[in-house]
Amino acid sequence: MPPMTLSFRTKMIAGIALIQILFLLAILMSGLTVLSQSRAQALMTRVKGDARLFATASANALVSDDIGALRRIVRQVMRNRGVIYAAAWDGDGRPLAHAGRAIEGAHVYRAQASVMVDKTSYGKVEIEVRDRRFGPILVRASHRILAIALGEIMLVGLASWLFGRYLMRQVAAIEAGVARIASGELGFQLPVAGHDELARMIIGFNTMSAQLKTLQDEATREHHEVLAANERLERRVYERTEELAVANRELEYRAMHDPLTGLPNRILLQDRLFQAIRAGHREATPFALMILDLDGFKDINDGLGHEAGDLLLQEVARRIVARLRQSDTAARLGGDEFALLLPGVANGADAEIVARKLLDALRVPTAIGDQAVSVTASCGAVLFPSHGDEGSTLLRHADRAMYEAKRTRQGFLSFAPAMDEAGDDRLRLQVGLERAIRHGDLVLHYQPTVNLATGEVSGAEALVRWPHPVLGMLAPARFVPLAERTDLIGPLTFFVLRQAATQARAWAERGRRLAVAVNVSAVSLSDSGFADRVERILQEAGVAPGLIELEVTETALMRDPERAQAAIRALSGFGVHVAIDDFGTGYSSMAYLRRLAVAKIKIDKSFVMDMGVSRNDSVIVRSIIDLGHSLGLKVIGEGVESAETMAILAGLGCDYAQGFHIARPMGAEAFDTWLQQRA
Ligand code: C2E
Ligand code: CA
Ligand code: CA
Repeated sequence: MPPMTLSFRTKMIAGIALIQILFLLAILMSGLTVLSQSRAQALMTRVKGDARLFATASANALVSDDIGALRRIVRQVMRNRGVIYAAAWDGDGRPLAHAGRAIEGAHVYRAQASVMVDKTSYGKVEIEVRDRRFGPILVRASHRILAIALGEIMLVGLASWLFGRYLMRQVAAIEAGVARIASGELGFQLPVAGHDELARMIIGFNTMSAQLKTLQDEATREHHEVLAANERLERRVYERTEELAVANRELEYRAMHDPLTGLPNRILLQDRLFQAIRAGHREATPFALMILDLDGFKDINDGLGHEAGDLLLQEVARRIVARLRQSDTAARLGGDEFALLLPGVANGADAEIVARKLLDALRVPTAIGDQAVSVTASCGAVLFPSHGDEGSTLLRHADRAMYEAKRTRQGFLSFAPAMDEAGDDRLRLQVGLERAIRHGDLVLHYQPTVNLATGEVSGAEALVRWPHPVLGMLAPARFVPLAERTDLIGPLTFFVLRQAATQARAWAERGRRLAVAVNVSAVSLSDSGFADRVERILQEAGVAPGLIELEVTETALMRDPERAQAAIRALSGFGVHVAIDDFGTGYSSMAYLRRLAVAKIKIDKSFVMDMGVSRNDSVIVRSIIDLGHSLGLKVIGEGVESAETMAILAGLGCDYAQGFHIARPMGAEAFDTWLQQRA
């Protein structure tokens, strides 16, 4: 059974009533006591006085032994109010006369007096008085006091009931308010009556309720904001992941394909060639490799413009593909040079049939703009395994056969060991290049790089040029690949390095610390003594290694990753930083990058240049910057041709920029002038 609960009001009223009753009882008792005591005293005094009067009056009768007189006196005494007993005794205590009857009890008062005459006792008298009227007086008095007390209790009860009601109404309001808050309802206001402490308490309660509501609203709003932000974040992460996946696929595709024609590029061709050689060894299956080069394409390009040239190349690619089998591979090696991998073709005659078919197809005029253009081409073929069983040998021999076919204007030739290179333009160029390097005829142009955060010129890239006595100023594309194919690339690289180091030192001595970047071919990097050679050249030039940076293309790194890694480690070991050039065109894995001790990556200009127009390119650029930074590398964007591109790169957090918008490559003197004008 639950304990009986009394409301606060009941307890309060009961408490007050109890106290009242106790106090009133005390007043009643003490009042009645005082009343009866004082009445008793007064009566005692009177009875004593009456006894003395009785003794005096009885003196004569006692002295004279007049019993009759004594009896009269006794009767006389009995007539007095309240006297119920009177008696007289002689000196020896013998009763002489008495009237009435002595009793014991409440309100009965007794007194004796001696009858003395000349100091001689003649007897004594006694009277007893009974207070008959005092009983009713006492009853009346107690009734009145009780009536007053009851009235008072009722008044106090009523007052405390009213007070309690007032108190409880406010307390109940607060109690209800607390219950509403407990059930989660906030912000409501309780009605306020009066100005006392209770009213102030309710005002305080209302303030609390309002503030709780504000806090709750704030918390709810923040919660919603957090939820929304989370959702946005998740969506962004999802979008970024999707974008990255697309960008990755795109990167992969681009790394393996020629952007103009969509054909596989040199890398993919080499891969397929490698596969074909492996399969050939395993299953003794032959194949043919052909190189096809357009005749006079340069004239078409110069005459009709690059756009027409591009259109023509695309048409050529389409026609080649249309005439090949599914299992064949047609790749664009660069410029107007194509390679064809033909599995199952086992002899020169079969190869020629395919080649002639292609050459015929190309001869059919095509409309470029309002011109009908027809091209001829030259084709050289090698057979596996009779003309070589290594990819590089097969390619070189096919190239030589193609060249021979072109020189002799036969259209097609199959490789023959006797083919000699005399009369080859390339050979002449090669001889000239060798002489130019030896005589120091090559010149360097410098293209500045800018720190995107500070706007300061941070360095320059050294780009080689060959002022050819007959052909004019040759761009590196014309002779660097040739040098790479021969033994000239080593001397060329070291010549450029020496020049660049000397220039860096000259700038440093004039108080301009500019890091000079030098391009290094894959072939050089794979050379075992390369790092040592670089160190020696820098020492000879007296330049701090920190002022020289080497740029290696991503594809070069991937050609021989182990050696590249060793070389880069050795170089950075003595303070020469290495940057990955043309980043995004190769196919290096994140894991490989992390192992390389490179300091910088240089985003290939093909992505940077198109960033303003191609959303895909800007995604790729952004991904490369993020990737570089996540590996702790600096990132430089090259091919910056407009202020807009530069601003986008800066916005993406790219560290450096290089490009025509900042300055074109220029000779050392022109570079100095440019620097001064900028300052
Ligand atoms: P790279 O290392 O990618 O050099 C940048 C090329 O982009 C340079 O062409 C430069 O003139 C060009 N360039 C710079 N800014 C812009 C721009 O805003 N827009 C465009 N469209 N192009 C820009 P360059 O001087 O013709 O060099 C071509 C390539 O030749 C170089 O590409 C590099 O791979 C190679 N190369 C140049 N010098 C050397 C060298 O000394 N040694 C070796 N091994 N290769 C070199
Ligand atoms: Ca470069
Ligand atoms: Ca580059």
